[in-house]
Amino acid sequence: MRMTCWNIWNLKEGALVLDTLGNLKRTKYCGELRAADADTDVVLMGWVHRRRDLGQLIFIDLRDRAGIAQIVFNQEQNPEAHAKAEDLRSEFVVAVEGRVIRRQKSNPEIATGEVEVVATRLLILNTSKTPPFQIEDDVTANEETRLRYRYLDLRRPRLHGNIELRHRVVFEIRKSLDEQGFFEIETPLLTRSTPEGARDCLVPSRIHHGQFYALPQSPQIFKQILMISGMDRYFQICKCIRDEDFRADRQLEFTQLDLEMSFPRQQDVFDAIERVMERVCALAGIKVQRPFRHMEYKEALRRYGSDKPDLRFGMELHNVTQFFEPARGVLHFEGNVQAMVAPGAAGWSRKQLDELAEFAKAAGARGVYTVKVTAEGTSSPLEKNLGMDGLKKLAAAVGAKPGDLIVAAAAREQIQHNDTSLNVVGQIRLHLGDKLNLIDRTKWEFLWITGFALFEWSERDKRWVSAQHPFTGIVEEDLDKLETAPWECRSKGYDIVLNGNELGSGSIRIHRQDVQARMFKALGLTDEQAKHRFGFFLDALTYGTPPHGGIALGIDRIVMLLAGEKSLRDVIAFPKTTKAQDLMSEAPSTVDEDQLDELGIAIKKEAE
Ligand code: ASP
Repeated sequence: MRMTCWNIWNLKEGALVLDTLGNLKRTKYCGELRAADADTDVVLMGWVHRRRDLGQLIFIDLRDRAGIAQIVFNQEQNPEAHAKAEDLRSEFVVAVEGRVIRRQKSNPEIATGEVEVVATRLLILNTSKTPPFQIEDDVTANEETRLRYRYLDLRRPRLHGNIELRHRVVFEIRKSLDEQGFFEIETPLLTRSTPEGARDCLVPSRIHHGQFYALPQSPQIFKQILMISGMDRYFQICKCIRDEDFRADRQLEFTQLDLEMSFPRQQDVFDAIERVMERVCALAGIKVQRPFRHMEYKEALRRYGSDKPDLRFGMELHNVTQFFEPARGVLHFEGNVQAMVAPGAAGWSRKQLDELAEFAKAAGARGVYTVKVTAEGTSSPLEKNLGMDGLKKLAAAVGAKPGDLIVAAAAREQIQHNDTSLNVVGQIRLHLGDKLNLIDRTKWEFLWITGFALFEWSERDKRWVSAQHPFTGIVEEDLDKLETAPWECRSKGYDIVLNGNELGSGSIRIHRQDVQARMFKALGLTDEQAKHRFGFFLDALTYGTPPHGGIALGIDRIVMLLAGEKSLRDVIAFPKTTKAQDLMSEAPSTVDEDQLDELGIAIKKEAE
């Protein structure tokens, strides 16, 4: 077989005359061809995915949005088309007219593998430079190169599939919410700051020098105002912009399904979302069980060490502090010790245990204590501290069986009003669940978390801050404690969790102006500050605000999970890097001096 070497081929200047599409109409997508199309004439258009030149016969794989079709150019039957096909190279854009025939030997690897198209005419509509990487799903180019040439990266079938799924998800959400009586209403992009806990992205005003718009961290205040306006049921598929410190699973801008309802019970919000999620999951062939489970925040933390527990596996936590008490001084731990049983891990090697200890330390553990349970009894470095009897009691208390490994840990430090040992051990639980293959990947475990505290302690600011945002409703019986014991106030907030991922959060809101004003005060805002930032909203609340509540879900994350991807960037057409850059358009970028002048802005020397 004579293979063409792609990469060193250069198109000679002017060597190729390009065809025009004229009035030619495409009759099918390449990827749609099936055995039933045999003996029909087709016009296909797309990109040359690959070419194999066997001399007399030239084969090309022609690729479009729907998939790949094999085209054959036969020198004897169609010398003109064959001659032109000699010029084809990777990623050239072509139109092919031809007849579909059954292949002598079908290719089960591709959906169109039972047929091929014998070309009668070839139009070369455009050439292409040699791409910096092959358009293949198992692409080896690094992500930086792929993001720089995102238009090529997006040609990969897998990303096509993800973007199509995303479209279907969003479309299904719209259909479901329309059927449930929600109106889709747009809210402004250039607005005032909304307190979702991140830094604002600011846009300077040209007309009002020295003044700034904030891009929305969410449409929170606007959607509440829509309830005051009597819209009753609102939703929006909207962009939210939060200038946070970057983590792998965050994007500077992300898409949210935002929703609000008037006169709802908590269950009404849950029900609306469950209906949406049931339909969205069905798109990926996933059947979900409604209604979703509920769990109190405290219970989730106690049993799984997380406010977004992954319920696809058990391995629940046990508070084993009492067994460690005699060794508190020697082991130097504060607070509680939590343990779990790692099934079948008694045989773990030194190296595996060292790795576990490393992980635990990085997760904030003081150290990790392990006990091997075998048919002969228990063995552990802890024996000298707890005694054989102590180990036996510990094993009995956590229900460990021969073959199991008990893994226990305490947190490195305690934080006010917070049992940090739970969060630390929760991370170890996830790590072990993964290492021991305990996670049933066929399960889709939705969960509502309720019973959050209204405030959380901020170590950084040394004060109480909103655990969600300051519009979250307060359980009526706790209203009296707002000024005296804020840490005891329970919120009307809730989170929705799927397989250990927080998909979204929401709440029944504060709808009384006096309560909202007290809330701002409890958060340390003076009357002046509250008036400056939220005066318009406090005003609006005084004109007959109905009880209302809502939620927002991250669409990028939902699509990522449904698509089985690990990175949000694989389900966003034009994502930013973890350094908040768009490598393709090279944003952010400097701007002309003139533009700065118009805005009345000078860049500080040190910022340059
Ligand atoms: N505005 C909240 C958020 O973006 C959601 C909500 O409370 O509805 O997280």
